[in-house]
Amino acid sequence: MSAAGAAGTVDSVRRHLVGLRMPRALEILDHIVRQLERGELAPLEAIEAILEEEYTGREGRRIKAALKMARLTTVKTLTDFDFTFQPSLDRNRILTLAGLDFIDRHEVLHLLGPPGTGKSHLAVALGVEAVKAGRSVYFATLAEIVSSLAKAEREGTLKERIRFLCRHALLIVDEIGYLPVIPDGGNLFFQLVNARYERGAMIMTSNRGFADWGDVFGDPVVATALLDRLLHHAVVVQIEGASYRLRQHASLLPEGSLTRPSTMPQPPKRRGRPPKARPAD
Ligand code: ADP
Ligand code: MG
Repeated sequence: MSAAGAAGTVDSVRRHLVGLRMPRALEILDHIVRQLERGELAPLEAIEAILEEEYTGREGRRIKAALKMARLTTVKTLTDFDFTFQPSLDRNRILTLAGLDFIDRHEVLHLLGPPGTGKSHLAVALGVEAVKAGRSVYFATLAEIVSSLAKAEREGTLKERIRFLCRHALLIVDEIGYLPVIPDGGNLFFQLVNARYERGAMIMTSNRGFADWGDVFGDPVVATALLDRLLHHAVVVQIEGASYRLRQHASLLPEGSLTRPSTMPQPPKRRGRPPKARPAD
């Protein structure tokens, strides 16, 4: 091809890249053409290099936007997780969960354990894996979910709010048991859980055992109805170990406080009136 012909072809490629909205490919086109001219790249390698650049950039932007939509802002990954610090945790079991079949099976994964043992880290890391695999994810604490449901109920938009929270393939509910649930919150949360039951996967993290859920939700009947749904198709991972947050301060803490695995701190008992409404079973 003559020099003029080649330049015309490059112009045409440029126009196509603009039309196809491939900005990163457009950016590196001249560089790739020079490499081709110098014989540093074979034609197929040049096509591959351009498409690879564009694809990587696009995937990066997609993942960034999806993580933001999922509210996964503090990104934690499985690679960052030190399994040797938490020997009670079966690494292979977590890596199998990262294969995301539990999402397709609409299962509920419960991550249980004392504070600082990596429950939120693992929940977020699995959420990040799901986002990368193109699944829609939503992350919130139980308190945030319940207060958003209560607000929606006051505003007459509860149905829409529940529909929104059911739209995601994976709903992560963090921090069950740290704060007592607001009055009627258990009933509102039950409506959400019931709407997602057998239709969408969830990850729930808690520092309290299931036997304490009556206290957490301020109502044993609501807690039983919740657990009935949440344990039906469930995977329970119990972490029995020391707090990663406190690992450098072992000497400052009372003896045994880093090694006592299964006694979970009990938050203060809730006060105030119990919730009125109860879910129909
Ligand atoms: P939990 O939710 O169980 O209270 P987190 O997951 O929030 O605990 O962990 C507390 C902090 O310690 C986070 O910054 C988390 O990334 C980190 N962390 C916890 N466990 C590990 C671990 N095994 N390896 C690396 N970082 C960890
Ligand atoms: Mg946590």
